[in-house]
Amino acid sequence: MNTNSQTQPSVSVGDYLKSVWEVAGTGAASTKDVAERLSVSAASVSNMFVRLQEMGLVRHERYHGASLTERGKREAMRLVRRHRLIETFLLEHLGYSWDEVHEEAERLEHAVSDTFTERLAEYLGHPAHDPHGDPIPTPEGMLEPDRNKPLRDVEEGEEVRVSRVDQRDEAVLAYLGEQGLVPGTAIRVLEVRGVDGVVTVEGEDGSVHTLGEPLTRSIFVRADS
Ligand SMILES: [Zn+2]
Repeated sequence: MNTNSQTQPSVSVGDYLKSVWEVAGTGAASTKDVAERLSVSAASVSNMFVRLQEMGLVRHERYHGASLTERGKREAMRLVRRHRLIETFLLEHLGYSWDEVHEEAERLEHAVSDTFTERLAEYLGHPAHDPHGDPIPTPEGMLEPDRNKPLRDVEEGEEVRVSRVDQRDEAVLAYLGEQGLVPGTAIRVLEVRGVDGVVTVEGEDGSVHTLGEPLTRSIFVRADS
């Protein structure tokens, strides 16, 4: 969570659309969840939902929150694509660490055009995933199907690859980065402890990691094929 409100860019229509999508996908996002996500008041969210509805970007029902219309979803995907390409660029070419890229991309995504975004995609070789393993939507707004499962659902002896880390906390990202538990890393599941869900894994380099509940929910893996 960013506590430095002075450097926070003002919350735009696009930020709202992205948040609705992040909170609920194509389902209905509650006022409360979107308010939390954007660190704004519930009243601001309610007002904005009415405005977005007038703009044809969401369907808003009292007490049921808001869901994206087809147009709203296209707009959200456009911004998600932009955001994830910028994150990839910052990590691969400007020496940012993976816990720093999100905040910077949040700022930059408001400043660049679609032309810039598509040139950037070309420059990066049309990557399919951002540094956190999140899929980058195509220019048409399509997303690859999600074949990942959380680490807490693995079984002992499974050999998998870290595919995505669903975590915004920079301290947690920095920790996982230090441990080498980033997308692309192959791991073997040594133990899944039934009593508290703690999962022990071994990395490619033989390092052993014992991971508790918050981490096993944030780390996603897929079959290592
Ligand atoms: Zn991000």
